[in-house]
Amino acid sequence: MRTELDELNWAGNYRYGAPVIHRPGSVQEAQELVAGAPNIRALGSRHSFNSIADSAGALLSLEALDPAITIDPAARTVTVSGGTRYGTLAEELERNGFALPNLASLPHISIAGAISTATHGSGDRNGNLATSVAELELIGADGNLRRLRRGDPDFDGSVVALGALGIVTQVTLDIEPTFSVRQDVFEALSWEQVLADIDAVTGSAYSVSLFTDWQGETVAQSWLKSRGYDGGVPNAAYSAGFYGGSPALRAMHPLPGFSGEDCTQQLGVPGPWSERLAHFRMAFTPSSGAELQSEYFVARENATEAIAAIRGLSEHITPLLQVSEIRTIAADQLWLSPAYGQATVGLHFTWKPEQAAVEKVLPLMEERLAPLGARPHWGKLFQADAAALAPLYPRFADFISLAERVDPEHKFRNSFLESKVFGG
Ligand SMILES: Cc1cc2nc3c(=O)[nH]c(=O)nc-3n(C[C@H](O)[C@H](O)[C@H](O)COP(=O)(O)OP(=O)(O)OC[C@H]3O[C@@H](n4cnc5c(N)ncnc54)[C@H](O)[C@@H]3O)c2cc1C
Repeated sequence: MRTELDELNWAGNYRYGAPVIHRPGSVQEAQELVAGAPNIRALGSRHSFNSIADSAGALLSLEALDPAITIDPAARTVTVSGGTRYGTLAEELERNGFALPNLASLPHISIAGAISTATHGSGDRNGNLATSVAELELIGADGNLRRLRRGDPDFDGSVVALGALGIVTQVTLDIEPTFSVRQDVFEALSWEQVLADIDAVTGSAYSVSLFTDWQGETVAQSWLKSRGYDGGVPNAAYSAGFYGGSPALRAMHPLPGFSGEDCTQQLGVPGPWSERLAHFRMAFTPSSGAELQSEYFVARENATEAIAAIRGLSEHITPLLQVSEIRTIAADQLWLSPAYGQATVGLHFTWKPEQAAVEKVLPLMEERLAPLGARPHWGKLFQADAAALAPLYPRFADFISLAERVDPEHKFRNSFLESKVFGG
C-alpha cells in the first residue's frame, strides 16, 4: 500500500511524516476512514513544495477513485472527483466541446489540491482556478458528506481551505463552450519599456507571462496566449516586436537549456484551449523537474515597486534561480486566496534545488516585499508565520472560526497549519 516514492513530494524536497497513506476505492470507504481517524488529511498529486499536505496521523489520497466526469450542458458545469488531474478533465471537456477558463502552468495537478492552495494561471481577467468552483462536496470531521454551493455563507471560506476543513471528494466547476488559443513567444523585451506601462503589457493577451532572471536590462521571454484567433495575427504590433522583444523563431521552454518540445505549441499556431493554456504538456515532466518554487503576490498597483525590490536583490536571487515568472490574477472573494479583494500580480521563482541557500534568501525577499503587503503562495516555500500572514487577509480570523466550528477536534490540522494559520 505504501511505497518509498509515495513518501516524497513531487520535487523530492519533502518526505511526508504520516505513518500511512490510504487510497480508498470508494467515497464511502473514505468516509469510514475519516470517521475512524483521530488525525487525517487529504493528499493531492504531491506538487506542493512544503509540508502543507502532511498529517501526524494518516494521509488520504483519492487517486484510486474514478474521475466520474459529468458535464451538465444546460447548467454549464462539470462535476468531477476531487483527485482527478486537470489534464484528464481538460481532455474530456474538449472532447465534448467545453472549456475551463484557465489552467495553471502544468496540467498534472489534482483539482482539489490545486483549488485548496488557490493555484492560478495568468490573465488580467482570469481568477485563480478556485474561482471556477460552483459547488463542493467534502467529508467532514464526523465522516459525513457536506455540500457547499456558491452563495452559501461558508462557501467563500471553504474553497481555498488548505485541507483544513475536510476531504474534498467532488468539485463542480463552471465551464464554457470550447475556444481556441494561439501562443506567441517573444524574446529579450526591454525592462524599461515593460515597466513604463506594465498594465498594457499584461493586458495585451488573454494570458501573459513574463520570464526573467531579474538581472540585466531585458526580460528573457514573454508568453502571450491569445483567445479566439483561428489564424492571422492577434495584434498588429506583434510583427513589429513586443516591447522591444522579437518573436521567437522556434518552440521555447521557459527554462534556459530545456527543450521546447516539452511545452504546449507556440509560434502562433492556433489550437484548443486544453493544449495551449498550460505551459507544459501532460506527457512530459513539467518545468525542470529538479527544482524548488516560491511565489509572492502583491496588488497590481504595487507591481512595479515589487519588481524593483526583487531586481534590487538580484545578486542574492539570480545565482540560485532557474527562472522567474510574472503573471496577473483577477481579484476574488475567497477568504484565503492571495488575490482576495485585489487584482494581483504574482512574482514566481523556480529555484535550483538548493533548499538551505534558498531559505537564506527568502527572509530578505519577504522583508523587502512586506511593505507592499505580499502574500505568499500557500503551496510553495515561504517563511512568514501566522502572525505575519493574519494582517494580510481581512477574513483570516473568520477562517479560523470556520475551521474551529467544522473541525472542533482538529482532525484536519497539521504542524504547517498550526504555524502558518492557527498559531497567530
Ligand atoms: C512543476 C510545478 C508547477 C507549478 N505551477 C503552478 C502554477 O502555474 N500556478 C500555481 O499557482 N501553482 C503552481 N504549482 C503549485 C501547485 O499547483 C500547488 O502546490 C497545488 O496545491 C498542488 O496540488 P496537488 O494536487 O499536488 O496538492 P498537494 O500538494 O498534494 O496538496 C496541497 C494542499 O491541498 C490539500 N488537498 C489535496 N487534495 C485535497 C482534497 N481532496 N480535499 C481537501 N484538500 C486537499 C492538501 O491537504 C494540501 O493542503 C506548481 C507546482 C509544480 C510542482
